[in-house]
Amino acid sequence: MTTEEKINQLRLELREHNYNYYVLDNPVISDYEFDIKLKELQALEAAHPEFHDPNSPTLRVGGGVTKNFETIAHKFRMYSLDNSYSKEDLEDWEKRIKKLVDGPIEYTCELKYDGASMSLTYENGQLVRAVTRGDGFQGDNVTTNVKTIKSVPLQLKGDYPPSFEIRGEIVLPFDGFNKMNEERIEIGEEPYRNPRNTASGSLKLQDSSEVAKRPLECLLYSLKADRLPIKTQFEGLEKAREWGFKVPKEAKLAKSMDEVLEYIKYWDTKRHDLPYETDGVVVKVNNLQQQEELGYTAKAPRWAMAYKFKSEQASTVLNEITYQVGRTGAITPVANLEPVELAGTVVKRASLHNADQIAKLDIREGDTVYVEKGGEIIPKITAVELSKRPSDSKPTQYIQHCPECHTDLVRKEGEAQHYCPNYEGCPPQIIGRIQHFISRKAMDIEGLGGETVALLVENGLIQNYADLYTLTIEQVIPLERMAQKSAENLVNGIEASKAIPFERVLYALGIRYVGETVAKKLAKHYKSIEALRVASEEELVAVDEIGEKIAESVVQFFSSEDNNEIVNRLKNYGVQLEISAEKLANQTDKLGGNSFVVSGVFEKVSRNELKKLIEDNGGKVSGSISGKTSYVVAGENMGPSKKTKAESLGVPIISEDDFLEMIS
Ligand code: AMP
Ligand code: ZN
Repeated sequence: MTTEEKINQLRLELREHNYNYYVLDNPVISDYEFDIKLKELQALEAAHPEFHDPNSPTLRVGGGVTKNFETIAHKFRMYSLDNSYSKEDLEDWEKRIKKLVDGPIEYTCELKYDGASMSLTYENGQLVRAVTRGDGFQGDNVTTNVKTIKSVPLQLKGDYPPSFEIRGEIVLPFDGFNKMNEERIEIGEEPYRNPRNTASGSLKLQDSSEVAKRPLECLLYSLKADRLPIKTQFEGLEKAREWGFKVPKEAKLAKSMDEVLEYIKYWDTKRHDLPYETDGVVVKVNNLQQQEELGYTAKAPRWAMAYKFKSEQASTVLNEITYQVGRTGAITPVANLEPVELAGTVVKRASLHNADQIAKLDIREGDTVYVEKGGEIIPKITAVELSKRPSDSKPTQYIQHCPECHTDLVRKEGEAQHYCPNYEGCPPQIIGRIQHFISRKAMDIEGLGGETVALLVENGLIQNYADLYTLTIEQVIPLERMAQKSAENLVNGIEASKAIPFERVLYALGIRYVGETVAKKLAKHYKSIEALRVASEEELVAVDEIGEKIAESVVQFFSSEDNNEIVNRLKNYGVQLEISAEKLANQTDKLGGNSFVVSGVFEKVSRNELKKLIEDNGGKVSGSISGKTSYVVAGENMGPSKKTKAESLGVPIISEDDFLEMIS
């Protein structure tokens, strides 16, 4: 095989695997095998630039930066849709169109995905352009960013037409959205508001490698070309699916308006189980010939109609606005509501986000407000019912002092959130920092929970996390719900945390913007707290993946004398503030970021030693098997369900010896 053939073969295979994973949600090889092939292709492409392909699977990770998005005119206008809200609206629509076309009318019913609309152009099976809807006549060229979305095929398969456009919606499924938000909250950033805005915002990011990290998906629904090898909308969906596009299976052909109404009724309740946001159903005349006869109004096709679900809304009275202070000092206004039932749960509180949001909606105590709950974690207030506003209502004055410690709040240039700057003396910040320190991903202190931390602080036993290491059994026994045994567990748990490796200690310190991944990067690069604490901003930003915001935050943390003293004390107590010499000596990158699941009992090493070996050699340990697992290391008595799962996902199961061989 020539090099070119080899490159082409790898591209073909990787494309197929991407398709299985991201379009069909059904991977047939492990991530590890995928990575091996990807690395092989990367190496070949690097050595042979003459075989460059702008649509190679190696380019999915992004890297290209767009400073200004070019404006591009749409070849086919991207129309809007007319809306309907009731059975009657739809029946009226059917009456209107029946006057304009002959013969029976069938409909394709599709879900109306709530994201950012997108037009993709393919020439000879290759993605050449991705353009946002813009004003319908022209949009922004976001090709570089869209190429990083793994469910968008860069190269089609099957009997695709030589040139066509396909329309779809870029969405951010709830799971990915919530996970992104959890990570943001963890490092002290403001969570994103909703999946739709986050999806469309992502498309306009300048750095495509940032886009690549976001779990965006592209759901397709419509083909456009001068000539198409299809006669109906439904056939178009099936064809697009064959060519490699992600076309949701929920779409259905309805033979009559009654069947359309059934579909709507079904999805009105079932939509809450979907992984992404939908705000309605789009009903389209199925026959393309009939579509052509019907044509367009100035704004929308006559052959399609959106049916909007009534949003799951409830109205209730906003009793009081209170303010929470987070670990980083960020203030979050909270709406305390008259309890109301919404989508099966009772809602009592909703987030108001920040001062701007309150001002924008002019939300006041005593107002009757509308609350909505999507797949997001916290319900939101969408509007105020002004007609019900009490006559003595006064505009909300956002607080100027911290509700906990009365310090003047500050608001940084360009940030929406207010902060309490009393880092050392504000109780929720003190408690929050210690709670973060002991949390599972940080020091993972057994026998100590968040409530006990609050009790310890309130009783003056500790003021910062270094104080934990001075606690004695006698001191904690008098606390509420403490007994000899639990006090012993607590003190032992704290003692045991001295073995937690440096990178996790670094994360535990709670430096703003230093999440787990960043902590690992910094630990690996600087190897000790001493090296890190003298690093300048310029030095920090020079480290791979460390941006200005993080650098600034790290420098700020170590510019505080108090922080330095706390760190010194931790060091004296024996907490790991550098990568251990043994670890340094034993560390390799042999496992190259592969993810391992450990199951069963082992002969030569303990489970924990095994896990440590994985991490020391650059691998990752994960608790459950998924498509992302590279290997399962199986010992005696491996769980049968794990075995079945690994086999069905095609994850290789290796023995203890195989593993030791890998790192020897
Ligand atoms: P609107 O913006 O309310 O006028 O609705 C039109 C938009 O709905 C289109 O531009 C698409 O972005 C979006 N949409 C979502 N799902 C579909 C679908 N299945 N068919 C057509 N349009 C859809
Ligand atoms: Zn405060």
